[in-house]
Amino acid sequence: MSIKFTEEQEMIRESVREFAQNKITPIALQMEETKEIPRDVIKGMAELGLMTCTADEKYGGPGLDAVSAGVIAEELAKADCTGSTCVYYLVPASWGFLLNKYGTEEAKQEIFPKNVSGEWFLGIATTESDAGSDVGGTKTTIKPDGDGFVVNGEKMYISGVREAATHGGGHITIAHQTPERGTRGMTTFYLPLTAEGITPTYINDLGREGISCGGFAIDNVKIPKHYILGEENKGFYILHEGYEYARALISVICASAGLKSLENGINYIKERKSFGKPLAQYQEINFRLSEHYTKLNMLRDLGYKALKTIDLEQEGKVSRFETSNIVAQAKMFCSDWACEAINDVMQWQGAFGYSRECPDQAAWRAVRSFSLAEGTKEVMKMIVARELLGKKQY
Ligand SMILES: Cc1cc2nc3c(=O)[nH]c(=O)nc-3n(C[C@H](O)[C@H](O)[C@H](O)COP(=O)(O)OP(=O)(O)OC[C@H]3O[C@@H](n4cnc5c(N)ncnc54)[C@H](O)[C@@H]3O)c2cc1C
Repeated sequence: MSIKFTEEQEMIRESVREFAQNKITPIALQMEETKEIPRDVIKGMAELGLMTCTADEKYGGPGLDAVSAGVIAEELAKADCTGSTCVYYLVPASWGFLLNKYGTEEAKQEIFPKNVSGEWFLGIATTESDAGSDVGGTKTTIKPDGDGFVVNGEKMYISGVREAATHGGGHITIAHQTPERGTRGMTTFYLPLTAEGITPTYINDLGREGISCGGFAIDNVKIPKHYILGEENKGFYILHEGYEYARALISVICASAGLKSLENGINYIKERKSFGKPLAQYQEINFRLSEHYTKLNMLRDLGYKALKTIDLEQEGKVSRFETSNIVAQAKMFCSDWACEAINDVMQWQGAFGYSRECPDQAAWRAVRSFSLAEGTKEVMKMIVARELLGKKQY
């Protein structure tokens, strides 16, 4: 049975839908040209309580549960074919969840109000030029230095670098503190991108162009002790909770983007005639439509199940392992299934489907990113296999 939403969640859905369809849909494709989300859109999102929606009320946030966060993600994905506002929403929501759970009181008091108001961006930066899926292969180091710590290294392929470096904010990141202990010696912390010693660089992404992607060099950057999340040297384990939150939101986003695209496709194939009949009457086309619709609804259910599992874990009702497993299942095919559906919708629209004016091509480029971002589909398979087989090598 599909998930049952509360009255409050339905109200959140309504208000986000109204805002997103009126303020974001009309300018979605334009954001890819200007390469930014207009500040008044971010302000509007913040006024609705969408920015870092997982921050507790005492830090100015609405302190939403994961299922409610999913409802917002679903509506943004439906309204913004470029996926830019979805990313701008999902990253702070997910990593805000981690900061809320493991951050120090001092850090939360300092950082959250600026995130919640939409002024600052909160991102995640673990990937490096030589280490992506294998987080243990990180070369960045963090060392105690006087009252605080000093960080050296680099990060690459990071979302929201320009936003945090220009308007303020920072990224949760990870580095080796005790390298001889491998992943058991890594520490997770908050790194402001406006700090002295940070040098940003930018790359041209294929999609979701309203939000930047880039990297930054970290040269002797000093951070205070209160920016450490959880215990020193335990960062590798802490980090995964943030990833899982993001992965579950991404699965709902992919389902929503795919279903929205199918809606566009349905409108088109009912109207467009070829060889004297509407395209919708050709079985080749309507069978594909049925298959995509079924798979995307399964994905949507699985995404919400993953989010519900995260909520239950916070109440101590399910284990870490259970959450990792269900989240990895939800993320595994989310990009593939959405991409396949959207690609067919583009095909049904003939040459128009291949033009920049077609919203579906932007959606395809956006959801394609999610077979990499926040963990690849191959890594999701590794997680599920590990849960099924145990850690012992066969
Ligand atoms: C648009 C976009 C935005 C991103 N934003 C961020 C961000 O904000 N913050 C951040 O930290 N990172 C970000 N990333 C980086 C993303 O998390 C990495 O691309 C991802 O983790 C994979 O790392 P990699 O690119 O180094 O590939 P690699 O880890 O080198 O992997 C290359 C390929 O090999 C596969 N592979 C690796 N190991 C195995 C194995 N054991 N078995 C089978 N296959 C394997 C991978 O699945 C992948 O297909 C972003 C990426 C993209 C595309």
